[in-house]
Amino acid sequence: MDEAGTEPPILSVAQVVPCTEAEGPGRRFAVWFQGCPLRCPGCCNPEFLPFAGGERRTVDELAGWMARARDADGIEGITLLGGEPLAHAAGAAALAAAARDLGLSVMVFSGYTLEQLRGRTDQAAADLLARTDILVDGPYLRGQPDTERRWVGSRNQRIHFLTDRYQYDDRWGRRNTLEIRLTDGELSVNGFPARDAVGLWKGWTRKPLPTAGADAR
Ligand code: SF4
Repeated sequence: MDEAGTEPPILSVAQVVPCTEAEGPGRRFAVWFQGCPLRCPGCCNPEFLPFAGGERRTVDELAGWMARARDADGIEGITLLGGEPLAHAAGAAALAAAARDLGLSVMVFSGYTLEQLRGRTDQAAADLLARTDILVDGPYLRGQPDTERRWVGSRNQRIHFLTDRYQYDDRWGRRNTLEIRLTDGELSVNGFPARDAVGLWKGWTRKPLPTAGADAR
């Protein structure tokens, strides 16, 4: 329990990539939540839509992993994506607070618009927004693929710089990035959901997250 007597949230995590350049500016620690209530046709993460599944992790576990990635790989921030981070708002807000405590920036991809999020009445959503440096908002529209703004899926989605930490610079104006990893015989893919990458996803298998205390780099 924390000082207020509330239980810390347990996160339902679908995937973690501890150092990526395909999910926002610089090197980032990316966390995909398990579960999204939206159903954007062409969603590139159909495995992450059901709320069942994923792996349950504490904020402290992930914070330790983030700290190791910061020290070993020089990550400058975390990126939260989905599944839908705002469907896990309490956990996402707590994770964002932990990132801030480590001096890391916070980027969030949400299928909801900023106006919808600001209209929510739950404190967790407000807390997450208050701790977010960059929000990319709105549903993914398959018919409007964005090939001009790196890291952004479709042209309807907007980039909101909610703090002064980032601005739109030439890093954003490049073609999208796809990363493919083969680690210990396991294939993982993240980044832009290009049509050419669909076949790769069919070969994707979920790699179990490391347990607490393991060398999770
Ligand atoms: S909001 Fe994101 S994760 Fe959810 S269905 Fe849309 S593209 Fe997929």
